[in-house]
Amino acid sequence: MKAITGQKPFEEIAQLLGKCENVYIVGCGTCATMCHTGGKAEVLKMKEQLESTGKKVTGWMVIPTPCDTLTEDALKEDTEAIKAASCLLVMACAFGVQTVALYTDKAVYPALNTLFIGQEEAPGRFYEACLQCGNCVLGLTAGICPLVRCAKGLLNGPCGGSVGGKCEVSPETPCAWQLIIDRLKEQGQLEKLEKITPIRDWSTSLSGGPRRTTVKS
Ligand code: SF4
Ligand code: SF4
Repeated sequence: MKAITGQKPFEEIAQLLGKCENVYIVGCGTCATMCHTGGKAEVLKMKEQLESTGKKVTGWMVIPTPCDTLTEDALKEDTEAIKAASCLLVMACAFGVQTVALYTDKAVYPALNTLFIGQEEAPGRFYEACLQCGNCVLGLTAGICPLVRCAKGLLNGPCGGSVGGKCEVSPETPCAWQLIIDRLKEQGQLEKLEKITPIRDWSTSLSGGPRRTTVKS
């Protein structure tokens, strides 16, 4: 499971950097490398682009997992070049940007948009796997999420519009409920469809404000 990112248009990045003339670039060796948005190749390309607009790139690094607290140690490995910069441009997901910002007092700017948490279905192609609803129903739906994979987010079976196993809203996309029913059938668990999922409590979802949880040790 990865944080799926897309690169912001260069014009937007240039606007964010504004008057910051000396830039240090941080890339990500995990998700953003896999998405081809913040690995070594993209960092070097960004360096070239910035330099072509007159910016000075004081240095760069690709941190294996910039969303992790080891980022603090990684940044210390290039202190001088970071000190020479007026800002950091982070080519990682929003978690990476926020982690880098924890360990520097310089301005930190994102070069990427964090799109969703997803899985790779083919090289370079990702699909959303979870919208972090905070109340997982995968145990009732054969491991297929109806909230992200059904166009209508239906929780109690299909809408009835599916044709040939495809979704009526998006004919290129398999009907999530057809997939769920097929898999439950294979597993001999069709009776799970008889359980009515009550009206959802969305207070656990992202739209309920910033969520917090403490993991018990
Ligand atoms: S039911 Fe909620 S937590 Fe479970 S996969 Fe779907 S969105 Fe994610
Ligand atoms: S056709 Fe299937 S995936 Fe599409 S909205 Fe209806 S139940 Fe959901």
